[in-house]
Amino acid sequence: MGHAAADPKTWTWIDGTWLEGNPPLIGPRSHAFWLGTSVFDGARAFEGVTPDLDRHCARVNRSALALGLAATMRDEEILELARDGLRFFDRDAALYIRPSYWGERDHPDLVIGADPASTRFALTLWEAPMIPPNGISVMVSRFRRPTLECMPTDAKAGCLYPNNARSAREARAAGFDNALVLDLLGNVAELASANVFMVENGIAYTPAPNGCFLAGITRARVIDLLRKAGTTVVEKTLSVEDFRRADEMFSTGNYTKVMPIVRFEDRVLEPGPVWRLARRLYWDFAHA
Ligand code: PMP
Repeated sequence: MGHAAADPKTWTWIDGTWLEGNPPLIGPRSHAFWLGTSVFDGARAFEGVTPDLDRHCARVNRSALALGLAATMRDEEILELARDGLRFFDRDAALYIRPSYWGERDHPDLVIGADPASTRFALTLWEAPMIPPNGISVMVSRFRRPTLECMPTDAKAGCLYPNNARSAREARAAGFDNALVLDLLGNVAELASANVFMVENGIAYTPAPNGCFLAGITRARVIDLLRKAGTTVVEKTLSVEDFRRADEMFSTGNYTKVMPIVRFEDRVLEPGPVWRLARRLYWDFAHA
């Protein structure tokens, strides 16, 4: 998600009004600024479609509750606002659509926490070109994913991302685009910014959700589409060794959709038939 906040054309809905640009919404006394109480979700518009926008709107409400904030908007209200915001952009524009909640005031009698009654909501849309599916390179990160006991992994929360960013920086410094990140037991969790699949003998595998990583909406959609098309998809515990043996690897996520992994450490991989099928099925679904 490498994009500056203010540069591309951006519109934000806050307190009943649409504002252009990057309005200053929080201050030094905002709880989110100080102690990181923010959640968000990310959907996309592209080619005139917004696949699974409803699921992304519903998930931000679950994230708010998981972080001790209030879900002040109904799922459908967020969805309606997101659709309304599209009118500020060209019909075919590629956009990132990001509903978010944050805590504004300290809780009156709870150490550290935000007052859920001070929860604020904003919905922001900005122009973000789709990434061509040319493939990415990945290496194994030395950083790990926390369990639910360590971090609020049941929320899509901003506070989780500095850890992911460490893996991304580590990968970049070593000449890779992204990182394969393990959980505390040493099993594969996901990439720094997306879920991960591997293929062996025509069967697709992806790590089973275990609370250590975001089991994404695109991941669930691709599993469903592949299965309906007759491809076996197995969710199970997977090791780095499993990935070293893979015929194919690809990632899924809202931002880059279905992306082939074309280098894994010192191995070069080809974008494979299961990736190609998954990407085509996703595009067909998006336009259906
Ligand atoms: N994992 C992480 C860490 C992510 O940031 C994302 C992108 N939101 C995903 C996975 C993919 O999730 P989704 O398909 O729901 O966008």
